Amino acid sequence: MSYEVLFCPLYSSSSGNVSLLSYRGKTLLIDAGVSCKKLKEALDQIGFSSKIDAILLSHDHSDHTRCAGVFSRQLKVPIITNHKTWKTIEYSMGNIDKGNVTLIETGDSLEIGDIQIETFPIPHDGVDPMGFCFYAGKKKISISTDLGFVSPKVASKINHSDVLLLEANHDVRMLMTGIYPASLKQRIRGNYGHLSNEQAADMLLSLNLEKTHQIYLGHLSPENNFPDLALKTVKSILKQKGVFDSLNPSLVVAEKDKASFCTVL
Ligand SMILES: [Zn+2]
Ligand SMILES: [Zn+2]
Repeated sequence: MSYEVLFCPLYSSSSGNVSLLSYRGKTLLIDAGVSCKKLKEALDQIGFSSKIDAILLSHDHSDHTRCAGVFSRQLKVPIITNHKTWKTIEYSMGNIDKGNVTLIETGDSLEIGDIQIETFPIPHDGVDPMGFCFYAGKKKISISTDLGFVSPKVASKINHSDVLLLEANHDVRMLMTGIYPASLKQRIRGNYGHLSNEQAADMLLSLNLEKTHQIYLGHLSPENNFPDLALKTVKSILKQKGVFDSLNPSLVVAEKDKASFCTVL
């Protein structure tokens, strides 16, 4: 396969998250929140057999970290995350060679090959959760899931992205009339919880999308959302504001149980 930048959400939902970014011979996994078997299945599905160079972990919740330890050990892939996250998850990672862990502070920038990576804080109830912007040549790919509210600071980071993976976690009515206990509903709706479909649309409205080619709505709750509903809600809000018609970026829902289609730039 010949490409410049390859980006693919391999799994995306409240049950497990992994994305893949590849550029000029370097490949990163962002989060590793599924079993190793599922991760390998998704890599097979997209026909990806090259070496993985690093696993970046956004925060300490298991839907982002589940197989990081095993995968790191099996394939000798270094884990990159911040100090507080590592301190919280280290016990669950098994025996990881110290040389295979790179610890940063949220807000740090780093480079892997020709990929520049920026990290930024996100409002969520992990110990030190972070989002990522990746710069590959002239292209910018941003990942921002697990967000409690439409934060202008986050918006300023993910603005002007070519590709964006943004959370659209729940439909508020489904959440509020659903089976979750009141405390969990409150947590999800709170400022350190997750973005609703409407909030995802509000976030998109706060961004300059002129160069945006592809938007993936991700991290949907299997209990409190449907892919069609997320897409319909976000599209209709953007249409109401006239954004969708003028810019027309491709808007899709990232798949929960298999690799989404890959964006090649
Ligand atoms: Zn999550
Ligand atoms: Zn989380």
